[in-house]
Amino acid sequence: MGLQPMSHRQDADATNDDQSMHPSRDQLNSGVLSPSEPRFVRVVIDRAIHRELDYAVPETLAERVSVGSRLRVPFRDKSALATVLAVLDQSDAKGIRPIEAIVGEAPVLSEQLLELAKWMSAYYCCSIETVIRSLLPQVVRRAEMGWKKQLFVQPTGKIESEEIEKLRRRAPRQAELLQAIAQLEKPVRAAELLRQTSLDNQTLRALVKRGLAELREEAVARDPHGDEQFLATTSLAVNPEQEFALQEIMSALGAPDNARPILLHGVTGSGKTEIYLQAIRSALELGRNAIVLVPEISLTPQTVERFKGRFSETPDGVAVLHSHLSEGERHDEWHKIQSGRARIVIGARSAVFAPLKNLGLIVVDEEHETTYKQEEAPRYHARDVAVMRAKIEKCVIVLGSATPSLESYHNAKRGKYGLVTLTQRVDQCQMPLMRIVDLRQERRKQKAAAILSEKLRSAIADRLEKREQTILFLNRRGFSTSLLCSNCGEARDCPNCSVALTFHRHVARLNCHLCGHTAAVPKKCPACGQDALIYSGFGTEKVELTVAHLFPTAVVRRMDADSMTRKEAYRETLRSFRGGKIDILVGTQMIAKGLHFPNVTLVGIINADLSLHLPDFRAGERTFQLLTQVAGRAGRGDTPGEVFVQTYTPFSPSIQFARHHDFAGYFEQELEFRERCDFPPFKHAILITVRSPHETRAKFSAETLTRRLKETLGSEFILGDATPAPLEKLQGQFRFHILMRGQAIMRLSRLVRETLDKLPFPEDVTVAIDVDPYQLL
Ligand code: ADP
Ligand code: ZN
Repeated sequence: MGLQPMSHRQDADATNDDQSMHPSRDQLNSGVLSPSEPRFVRVVIDRAIHRELDYAVPETLAERVSVGSRLRVPFRDKSALATVLAVLDQSDAKGIRPIEAIVGEAPVLSEQLLELAKWMSAYYCCSIETVIRSLLPQVVRRAEMGWKKQLFVQPTGKIESEEIEKLRRRAPRQAELLQAIAQLEKPVRAAELLRQTSLDNQTLRALVKRGLAELREEAVARDPHGDEQFLATTSLAVNPEQEFALQEIMSALGAPDNARPILLHGVTGSGKTEIYLQAIRSALELGRNAIVLVPEISLTPQTVERFKGRFSETPDGVAVLHSHLSEGERHDEWHKIQSGRARIVIGARSAVFAPLKNLGLIVVDEEHETTYKQEEAPRYHARDVAVMRAKIEKCVIVLGSATPSLESYHNAKRGKYGLVTLTQRVDQCQMPLMRIVDLRQERRKQKAAAILSEKLRSAIADRLEKREQTILFLNRRGFSTSLLCSNCGEARDCPNCSVALTFHRHVARLNCHLCGHTAAVPKKCPACGQDALIYSGFGTEKVELTVAHLFPTAVVRRMDADSMTRKEAYRETLRSFRGGKIDILVGTQMIAKGLHFPNVTLVGIINADLSLHLPDFRAGERTFQLLTQVAGRAGRGDTPGEVFVQTYTPFSPSIQFARHHDFAGYFEQELEFRERCDFPPFKHAILITVRSPHETRAKFSAETLTRRLKETLGSEFILGDATPAPLEKLQGQFRFHILMRGQAIMRLSRLVRETLDKLPFPEDVTVAIDVDPYQLL
C-alpha cells in the first residue's frame, strides 16, 4: 500500500459499476437513521475509485463526526475506511447507506490539511485518495495501534517502618522491595524499580496481593530519542547578517497574512540553522508552532540534538518524523503532534503534513534538495507543498540553502519571494580553494586511466603527513561500472533494465543498481566465448582499494549504500571519522551533505562529469550544487580547505562558476538557458511515462495518448512526441515518455486528467503522471 505507483489503469478500475455502490431503499429504512434530523457526510474511501460518496450518519454518532474524521463505511458488499471531506445537511445521492463506525478518537485531518490535499490532487493530477494515503501514516489511517502501556508501581498508603520490619522476618525480599516502594515520591515504572533493586516480579506481585503496593497501567510514548541526554543550549549573539535575516522573519511573523515566503541564501556555515532556531523561539513566544523540514540524509542525531537541546525545557515538545521510525514510534510522534504536546516538528519530506495546529513557521532547509520530491504517487515536492501549506495556514515560510534551486531563486528575483543573503561564514573561515584538474591532460601523462591525478595524490600525502583528514567523493557505487568483452565488445547488461551490470568486488557478483538483479561473474564472454573480459569504469569500491593501495599506512573507510547496510554502521563510521580515527573517507552523496568535520582540509571530487552528462535539463544545476555543497565540507576549522575537482570538461559553466563561488553568475546564465529552451522555472512540465512488459503495446498506447493530447491541449502548451525513455527498459518494463510544458499548470493538469479518463488502456499498460518532474530518465 502507498508504495504502488498509481497508474491510470488502477485509477479507472472501479468506475464501471456505479450501481452496485448504492444500496436499496430497504436497507436505508432499516437503518438507525432518524428521519427528522438528517445528517450526511461526503467521504473519500481508501481505494482508488476516483469519486466522492455520500453516507448517512446515525443520530447517535452525529456529534462525533466532523470534517477530517475517519470512518468505517459499507462499500459494495464489504466495508471500507474513509475520510470525511464535508458534513452536509442534505444529500441528493440515491440509496444512501449509514456509516458503520467512527475510527479513532478525534478527526485526523484539519480543514486546512484537507484543503491542502485537494490542492495537491488538482495540481499533481492524482486522486485525493492517493494524497490522503500520503498525508496520513498507515498506523493513523488504520487506527489499529494504541499507546504502549507500562506498569507503574506506588505504595497503597503510608507505609510504617514497623510493617516493613514485621515483613522482614517472614519474607525478607518483600520487605526490601517494600522499603524501596515506601521511599518513592511518585509512581515509577515497575520494571525499572525491579531492575534497580535486583528483585523479581513475583516479589512485587506478593506485595500487591498483601495490599501494600499497587500497580497502575499508564500510556507511555515510544520516544526514539527517549534515552538520550540533550545538552541545553541558549541563543547565540547573532552577527549583523543574521540579525538582518531574523528581522525579516520577525516582521513576517508579526504580519503573517500577507507575508511572502523568504529565501535564505547563505553559504555553508553562515549560521542559517541558528537563525531557524531563534525564529522558532519567536514563533513559540507568539503562541504558534513550527515545522522544520530537512532532507532525510541530514536528519542525523547531530541535527536532532541541536533542536532538542535548544528547546530542552520541553523535551517532549520536539517531535521527530523520519522513515526509520517503527510503526509504534510513528503512532506516538504523530499523536504527540496532533494532541498539541509537541510544538516543533522536525522531519523529512512527509513531515510537511505534520498535524500541528496553529502553525506559525515552516522552515525548509536545503530547499534545493531533490529528495524533497516523492518519486511515487502522489509525486509531490515537499518544498512546494510547504509553500502552499504556509499560504493556507497563513504562516511564515523560510526556504534555506547554500545553493538555492533555480525555481526559488527565480521566484525571489521576480519578487514572489523575499530574498535574504548571508555572505560570510560565521567562523570567518576562508572559502576553500577550488582547483580544477583536467583529466584529459592527466590521461596523456599517465597511461592507465587515472582514478587519482598526481596533484590530488600529492595533496592527500601532504594531509596524511599533517594528520589532517580527506574526503574523496564519487557518485557511483561498486567496483567497476561494466564488464566488457575486449574481443566482441559485448557488455553484461541487466536482463530487466537497459543498463550495464556493476561489478561488486566484496561479494564478487554483478549487480543491477536499478532492479537488484544479481548474476555470477562469467569466466568467458557468454557472447563470443573468448577469455577477453575486462572491467571498465570504476565506483567507490575501486577508489577505496586504490587509495588503500597507494597509502598503505592510512586508515581508509568507505561510506555508501553497500557498506552502510546496517543502520548503526553509518553512525559508527561518522563517529570514528569525527574522532580522527579515519584518515580518508571515500563515499557517495551520503557524505556530501550537511556534516561538520573541522579537521577535514581536503576534498577530492573524483569525477565531476558523472552528473553533468545525463539527459536532464537540470544536470548542470545539479553539478553546480554538488560541487558547492561538497566544497562546503572542507576547511571548517582554523585551516582553510582545498578542493580538487577532477573533470574531462574543465570549462563547463557549472564547474567554472562553482570554482569562483559565483552563485549569481551561474544562476544568470542558467536562467537564460532555461528561458531560451522553455524549461522550468519559465514553464511547468508534466512528464507522462507509459510502460508495459510488451514493447509494442507501450509504444502504441503512448502514441495514441499523444494524439489525444494533441487534440485536447491548445497551442498554449508545448507537447512533444512519444519517445522511448532514456532508460528504455526498467525492471522488465518498456518505457515511453511524453513531455508537456506550459505556464498554466492547473489547467494543463486538468486537461491531462480528462484526456486519460476517456482513454481505455490495455490491461498490462501502466500510465504514470509526474508534474514538475525531477526524474527524466
Ligand atoms: P549553516 O546552517 O548555515 O550551515 P550553522 O547555523 O550550522 O550554519 O552555523 C555554523 C556554526 O557556527 C555552528 O557551529 C553554529 O553553532 C555556529 N554559529 C552560528 N551562528 C553563530 C553566532 N552568531 N555566533 C557564534 N557561532 C555561531
Ligand atoms: Zn536491472
